Amino acid sequence: MPDITHQRCINHMFREAVARCPECGRFFCRECITEHEDKVLCASCLRKRLKPSGQRFQPYGWIFRLGHFFAGIVLLYVIFYYFAQILLALPTAFHEGTLWQSGWWTQP
Ligand SMILES: [Zn+2]
Ligand SMILES: [Zn+2]
Repeated sequence: MPDITHQRCINHMFREAVARCPECGRFFCRECITEHEDKVLCASCLRKRLKPSGQRFQPYGWIFRLGHFFAGIVLLYVIFYYFAQILLALPTAFHEGTLWQSGWWTQP
């Protein structure tokens, strides 16, 4: 087992390490180490632990952003589609008995 007193914090070169992160195996000072669920972890490993899915899918983050972008477009399209449907429905209501009775759009 390596002597921890001779280790330095990976973030603070002049501070003595007080703990070793079990996740990444690096040494950290009192300020850089945190406790999480009775486990001592460094700040970066804690961040990874709190956001496992975000960290795992980070290389494909742009796909999710693209998905959100297209989802926004689809949402806008749906909104405008129904808005257009309302606009299309209005003349039939205004001119009742003309277009509605002919039913040209229901014929195959
Ligand atoms: Zn760590
Ligand atoms: Zn430190």
